[in-house]
Amino acid sequence: MEAKIVRVFRHDLLAWFRRHRRALPWRTRRTPYRVWISELMLQQTRVEQARDYFLRFMKRFPNLKALAAASQQDVLKLWEGLGYYSRARRAHQTAQWLIEKCNGKFPRTFEGLLALPGIGPYTAAAVGSLAFNLDVAVVDGNVARVLCRVFAFDGDPRGGAGKKKLQAWVDELLPHGRAGAFNESLMELGALCCTPRKPDCPKCPLLKTCQAYAEGRPENFPTKTAKKKLPHKIVGAGVIVNRHGEFLIAQRHEHEMLGGLWEFPGGKQEPGETMEQCIARELREELGIHVRVGPCLTVVHHAYSHFTIALHAHWCRIERGRPRNFQCLENAWVPFSKLWKKPFSRADLHIITALRGVKPPKF
Ligand code: SF4
Repeated sequence: MEAKIVRVFRHDLLAWFRRHRRALPWRTRRTPYRVWISELMLQQTRVEQARDYFLRFMKRFPNLKALAAASQQDVLKLWEGLGYYSRARRAHQTAQWLIEKCNGKFPRTFEGLLALPGIGPYTAAAVGSLAFNLDVAVVDGNVARVLCRVFAFDGDPRGGAGKKKLQAWVDELLPHGRAGAFNESLMELGALCCTPRKPDCPKCPLLKTCQAYAEGRPENFPTKTAKKKLPHKIVGAGVIVNRHGEFLIAQRHEHEMLGGLWEFPGGKQEPGETMEQCIARELREELGIHVRVGPCLTVVHHAYSHFTIALHAHWCRIERGRPRNFQCLENAWVPFSKLWKKPFSRADLHIITALRGVKPPKF
């Protein structure tokens, strides 16, 4: 890359950032802990959504010590609805590790950060540059889009070769000693100006160096890969209430998706099964109880990153057996008013909402 292009790129980008940077909560009172939590939350989540989660999380766990001392259930409850719950569980474990082994301090080198359990190259680069100003460049989705357009890159930015190329470009552009501001400014440009659709090129500081703009086709980059249709699963869940008005819920194993969260017990419908048969089988396998499956309470449609579900929640009554933890970590009878205290997935929260003010039917 020509030295002059690099100079202009850095100068114009950083000048733009000074004028346009948003006042986001993780940009004030910056500590490695706050940077780390915000980066974990921002992966796969919009800034507007992450902002509220971040503020609630910081109020409850203002520092590493508070997070390390919390119960995993409290951490998951504050993460509820954000998805990618393994991140919350790992953050909790990493906080405990840092308190125990590192005197509550984050390592100040990229290698040291990377060696922490539960911290990958992206997070280590983000924390290293934003908290310690280490000379490491960060490539997230926003940065990748800007780079693909600036260099009119027509390869696949998600493939191994594409990733290497983008990393090499951004490493070359990174100004020594200013990595934090530079990384943030590229991310901010992708979020505010070089947006996926209708980039605001006339207001962009990189207009002079951008090849996609010069070619008049910014929206052609990054090149699109054909979207695969997501698999769809039909899932059944049993809603069981005892004579004290308590609901039977089960906690998922940690190694499973949504690990550590609670749910109305159930599972995936097998080919040839009716919904009633599916729920009866699932409750037998999961909790060892034999149930009569009654009317449908609600059907929840939900999309995860790799599949979609239709979750059919049916009222059920136990005919035989006492709940045991065959395929769950724990089970509990919980009154409606206390259900909200347990961490649930978004889909199960819809079932709780559907239960509000509803009397169990007779069947
Ligand atoms: S000029 Fe347009 S396409 Fe190029 S980086 Fe700026 S906003 Fe993106």
